[in-house]
Amino acid sequence: MPTRRDFLITGGIGLGAVVVGKHAATASPSNRTAPVVISTWPHGIPANEAAWKVLDSGGYALDAVEAGVRVPEGDPEVMSVGYGGLPDEDGVVTLDSCIMDEKWRCGAVAFVRNFKHPVSIARKVMERTRHILLVGEGAEKFARMMGFQEENLLTEAARRRWLRWKANLSEKDNLLPAVEGNHDTIGMVALDTHYRLAGACTTSGLSNKLHGRVGDSPIIGAGLYVDGEVGGASATGVGEAVIRTAGSFLIVEKMREGMSPQEACEEAIRRVMKMNPENPHVAFIALDKEGNIGAATNYDKFQYALYRDGTNSLHTVTPIR
Ligand code: ASP
Repeated sequence: MPTRRDFLITGGIGLGAVVVGKHAATASPSNRTAPVVISTWPHGIPANEAAWKVLDSGGYALDAVEAGVRVPEGDPEVMSVGYGGLPDEDGVVTLDSCIMDEKWRCGAVAFVRNFKHPVSIARKVMERTRHILLVGEGAEKFARMMGFQEENLLTEAARRRWLRWKANLSEKDNLLPAVEGNHDTIGMVALDTHYRLAGACTTSGLSNKLHGRVGDSPIIGAGLYVDGEVGGASATGVGEAVIRTAGSFLIVEKMREGMSPQEACEEAIRRVMKMNPENPHVAFIALDKEGNIGAATNYDKFQYALYRDGTNSLHTVTPIR
């Protein structure tokens, strides 16, 4: 099991772009560090870049996470989020997303079709309604009302992947989602220069999922949780396992009890492993209100992107077995 020290060593291997920002991070007298932004997967690098622009100019963490995750949402090359995301079993792209600020305010949408930026719809749910979660047709009607443009989200590349899956179905397939290495939700947590926390999470979910399936990503407490007095966490991987453990909420509560973000993420992974004997792939990231980060996973290929001290870097996490 990796210790905090192992994590710092092995997790410190940057594999991706390193970009130096204008300012170094601000260290307050109590050694707090801000701004900081952490996000899941290599597509977190350009997402962090967009978030950092907001943070570096003294902007609000909530604006930063929204701007950040909109980058992979709009990128057709990212086949697990937003436009270009892989479809469900019926060949329909359905998106899930949520957003949360430092004052426990939150909004979410699930099973949304034909809108490229579900995170921005989620933010409108948070700011313009008394509700937290809108789904399907209702969420789409609300999005239209809010002036969001409808468009086809199924790219040719995603349609071909779906056709290949469909053509290869056999009696061995069942109604469990067939996953082609598609655990690539973007979860992001940011701390701004005023030490305000916010988070966002957005995904097209597991590829070839049953039509109507909603994962952890739009579920407050599962795919994302932020408590401005403590910290925030987000998840990627098999959503059913994350929902079962209320993973992001669990991490924030463990941090409240005194664990570091790293210890809390590891605890959540151990909980996932205990509660899900088939050991589904899951990864968590966390950021506390002092600017400390954590990340843990039970599988080999998880990476997170961290923008801190003016540097954006990609880190590989040693899995817990
Ligand atoms: N957590 C997402 C879901 O279950 C999948 C992922 O992270 O790729 O919908």
